Amino acid sequence: MSLLVVGSIGLDEVETPRTKRSDLLGGSAVYFSVAARFFSPVQMVGVVGDDFPAEHRQLLEKRDIDLKGLEVAKGKTFRWSGKYHANMVDRDTLRTDLNVFAQFDPKLPSEYRSAEFVFLANGHTALQLKVLDILGRRPKFVAADTMDLWIRTTRPELEKLFTRIDALILNDSEARMLTGEHELLKAGRAIQKMGPATVILKKGEHGAMLLSRDDCFILPAYPLDEVVDPTGAGDSFAGGIMGYLASADDLSTDNLRRALLYGTVTASFTCQGFSLDGLLSADRQAVESRCKTFRKMLRLPR
Ligand code: AMP
Repeated sequence: MSLLVVGSIGLDEVETPRTKRSDLLGGSAVYFSVAARFFSPVQMVGVVGDDFPAEHRQLLEKRDIDLKGLEVAKGKTFRWSGKYHANMVDRDTLRTDLNVFAQFDPKLPSEYRSAEFVFLANGHTALQLKVLDILGRRPKFVAADTMDLWIRTTRPELEKLFTRIDALILNDSEARMLTGEHELLKAGRAIQKMGPATVILKKGEHGAMLLSRDDCFILPAYPLDEVVDPTGAGDSFAGGIMGYLASADDLSTDNLRRALLYGTVTASFTCQGFSLDGLLSADRQAVESRCKTFRKMLRLPR
């Protein structure tokens, strides 16, 4: 089944206690697409400026990500910069320059309009709503991500969005901010009442919680010797989930659990390398082999 994503495509500057690099290919739609492509074809909708380096575009083309929905606008590409604390978990956002992403008016190529799996990656809520308007029908499964910036600045639009999506994937701190509930189970249930039947809460190094109509499932994060750079882990996690769901075309309770496993393992590759390196060094086989190891780690004795 086809999978469509809309989100940011940008140039990142990332600083960890060991390394600092700039002009890196990044953005929510980029991490999502590279991750989802392990499982399924991906159609990408987004915008870059005329300063977007040709080699970044080539990297996405080489991964066979469909870029017919990628617009090149006059102006500067979206830029983001972040700095990690010594614990490699907490992060300060130093700059977010939306640039051409701020006025992006998405146009969907006709063949994108029949997409049955849609991911509204982190980006302006009005843009996420606009894509749903253009699709004009309810796809089989629509999931969205958001962040503190949009929760603070676009709350009424977000509430509208929640009534039009099947799943919301967001961080624990954002779920608490959105609902005012500290207990994650309560926060998740409160979000379900706002619209999405499925809520997936990311707890960083502590894993994730999945709430669906009839299920509550938890997974720890895949343990790594060293976290090199967690940038894009959330987007890769969503890419693993949605890519797997689109490939299986099965939204049963068991398959949602399986998707969470794939999302968790895919995100672990992202954390293992700087920028996109960890994800780019993996393939479907590496993901399957790590899933096998993870299943063994998770076996509970009766
Ligand atoms: P994550 O580490 O999963 O939060 O994702 C980091 C990626 O999200 C980076 O590559 C950024 O370019 C992108 N990003 C950061 N802030 C925003 C924002 N406000 N809107 C869209 N994308 C963003």
